[in-house]
Amino acid sequence: MLAQPLLPGATLGVMGGGQLGRMFVHAAQQAGYFTAVLDPDADSPAGRVSHHHVHADYLDSDGLARLSRLADAITTEFENVPARALASLAGDRPVAPGAEAVSIAQDRIREKAHFMRCGVACAPYAVIETADQLTAVGDDLLPGILKTASLGYDGKGQQNVASRSDLGAAWAATGQVPCVLEKRLDLDFECSVIVARGHDGAAVHFKAQRNLHRAGILAVTEAHDEALPPEAAQRAIDAALAIADGLNYVGVLCVEFFVLKDGSLVVNEMAPRPHNSGHYTIDACDLSQFDLQVRTLAGLPLVAPRQHSPAIMLNLLGELWLARGAKPMEPDWAAVLALPGTQLHLYGKMEARPGRKMGHLNITGASVAEVRTTAQQAAALLGLPSPLAA
Ligand code: ADP
Ligand code: MG
Repeated sequence: MLAQPLLPGATLGVMGGGQLGRMFVHAAQQAGYFTAVLDPDADSPAGRVSHHHVHADYLDSDGLARLSRLADAITTEFENVPARALASLAGDRPVAPGAEAVSIAQDRIREKAHFMRCGVACAPYAVIETADQLTAVGDDLLPGILKTASLGYDGKGQQNVASRSDLGAAWAATGQVPCVLEKRLDLDFECSVIVARGHDGAAVHFKAQRNLHRAGILAVTEAHDEALPPEAAQRAIDAALAIADGLNYVGVLCVEFFVLKDGSLVVNEMAPRPHNSGHYTIDACDLSQFDLQVRTLAGLPLVAPRQHSPAIMLNLLGELWLARGAKPMEPDWAAVLALPGTQLHLYGKMEARPGRKMGHLNITGASVAEVRTTAQQAAALLGLPSPLAA
């Protein structure tokens, strides 16, 4: 808890040096803060742009001590930062979000229990931690998706399970770690809501945005008035606020949802940090999700962000660099940037790998029709499939 706001001139720290940390650092620096990043990689996207970079493992006690000497308050950008590390920092400095909220978000079993406690429905599922629980799984959950309870992201740690025999084999393939089996649902579309909640419990949020995933990885986010039915958007916002309240959350939280063919809303998972589906806020809103992360951490006033332009975001994955020829090649940015309303964000990652998030392209415009047209043109120039929902 902060006794008083940390004003610009103070130093804000972040656990994790990936692209989310980099964009946090940019927002903090723009507001006049100094920044400190802790990351085990000597050459991380955020470490390279931060005033201070503590090059250490997340649980290294010397590294944590250095970070807490440098920083007046500390946040996290990486979902799998050990909650223990946050708990130990919290002995010295304000830490937001707190270790407890982060540890719930890190464990699908605890996460789903939290959703249900908040009265928000999730996909029908069973916890599988023992052979008996495996045997007891009901047929109604098949076909399903077996997900490891921890350490999954971008579809990693997930296996499709068509039958009971698949299920045994899939669990064995995880090394019999704790898992959840989720029923495979018939999705109409996916959406997410980003909430920022302050130390005083007051919360603001962005519009619900519509997300298109390909192969388990976010490919496109659409954020504008026509992106999803207003009634579904409102239900998602109410659910996300209830989930944040239930955690007594401080910071930026993203909650991901499925909207099913029958119109019902189901919560999927949450991320205790800004989210890939909120990157459009940098160019389409007066305050971005990273600006709000800075404000929640520093205890500055939270005001509702205003989106001033319809937006579409295209994720730029490593494949784009690898598509033409044996050697990685930079995509033709000049052609894309010749389209009015495009903003390129690259994360400074030296090596392109399939599925690796290298950057994103934000597209804004005066109307939904305009951003849709530009998004189609940009996707075609980059060799990406059509970004628009069928
Ligand atoms: P990750 O942590 O990798 O993002 P998710 O649980 O969000 O894992 O799953 C990734 C994607 O897989 C989702 O965005 C969705 O497209 C699909 N998916 C996950 N669970 C289900 C489900 N129960 N039914 C249908 N599709 C699902
Ligand atoms: Mg997800």
